[in-house]
Amino acid sequence: MENHYQVIVIGAGPSGAACGITLQKQGIKHCVIDKATFPRNKTCAGLVTKKTYGLINELFEGQNTERLFCTTANRIRLYRKTQLLADAPLVRDIHLVERKIFDNALVEKYRELGGVLMEGESGITVDYDNNRILLSNGQILYYDTLIFADGALSMSHKSLHVDKSKLAFGVETYLTTEVLDTKSVDIYFEYVDNGYLWVFPHGERVCVGVAGQYKKGEDYKKMLASFLKDVGVSTEHIRYIGAFLPYGYVIPQEKLPDNVILIGDAGGFTDPISGEGLYMALKTGILSAQAVTTQNPKKTYWQNVKGLVSVVKEGNRVQKFFYSPAIHKMVLGKLSGKEQLVSFFFEHQVEEYHYEYRNVIQMYRDYKKSCH
Ligand SMILES: Cc1cc2nc3c(=O)[nH]c(=O)nc-3n(C[C@H](O)[C@H](O)[C@H](O)COP(=O)(O)OP(=O)(O)OC[C@H]3O[C@@H](n4cnc5c(N)ncnc54)[C@H](O)[C@@H]3O)c2cc1C
Repeated sequence: MENHYQVIVIGAGPSGAACGITLQKQGIKHCVIDKATFPRNKTCAGLVTKKTYGLINELFEGQNTERLFCTTANRIRLYRKTQLLADAPLVRDIHLVERKIFDNALVEKYRELGGVLMEGESGITVDYDNNRILLSNGQILYYDTLIFADGALSMSHKSLHVDKSKLAFGVETYLTTEVLDTKSVDIYFEYVDNGYLWVFPHGERVCVGVAGQYKKGEDYKKMLASFLKDVGVSTEHIRYIGAFLPYGYVIPQEKLPDNVILIGDAGGFTDPISGEGLYMALKTGILSAQAVTTQNPKKTYWQNVKGLVSVVKEGNRVQKFFYSPAIHKMVLGKLSGKEQLVSFFFEHQVEEYHYEYRNVIQMYRDYKKSCH
């Protein structure tokens, strides 16, 4: 049947595109559908860690990927409000992307391999009982496996009643380097509860944003404006953009039919400490595509993402502990002047997941040993 696919992927962001690229390489009959038309914008600070960089190069099959990055940085600075706590060098340069360019490059790579992307398709209805989806033009497509890659507010969450309070919300803006400049990755605490504010270099611009656990009525623009005032930037004519992101809650996929899989933000896959989502988006995209060649795709997928599920769940516990007011105050106090500790944490944990979050004490011991 022409309208029958082994796999249908809804969403062509990093998770859906990585899934599509991997499916295409495996020669599986599938299609990817997105409501947007590419290139499209996506609210994101664009930080790419070493582990993400590795996956990008894997997906681009050794092609030169330098064109995807807008800049690199080789220091991380931590602040309490505007007071500098630590200015730490990084062992390796960290990369940053503009999502409009990055996501489009992934989609282009998918197309280059012969992948079929249906764009501008905003009216999808899913009929789980009959393994089919209906498009806005009346077309009906059948699937063996359905993969949701449609972001933090995935349409799959409706039947699962996912509460927004389990998510984080972020607001950001872009400023020219004449207005505000940095060459390092700058993190500011205490502008928001349960989260942080950032200023990241993006070539000719900087990305300034704030994100934290979503609370109805919380004014994230005001938090960002308060920071901008503190650093002497006028908040007139500033355009803010906002978006939800997962924050320590793994979506219970077992409550969906056995042939339905959630990847990337749709599955709740971001790191609850750093907010990094690109790594898990690409990784779950690749793992889901690899799983569909096995006898029980969902079971295989679930086994293979176990490690990521632990990162989310354990990270969530550490995050709650870290942001509890007394602990947060104490930890920030201890971080003051601890450049080596910040570098160690960034290099081993943020860049590579060398430790599991439950082994945070072991990491601290190893750091102490490394100081001798
Ligand atoms: C403020 C903020 C800052 C962030 N900063 C970073 C960072 O610095 N580094 C990092 O690694 N991560 C960061 N993240 C997280 C990162 O952006 C996400 O984890 C990542 O985009 C997830 O990719 P995805 O493909 O799962 O979803 P998305 O990138 O959201 O892509 C989903 C796709 O699905 C499509 N779609 C949605 N609904 C439908 C529908 N009904 N039908 C069809 N298509 C649909 C959308 O058009 C989109 O193309 C940040 C997030 C936020 C909000």
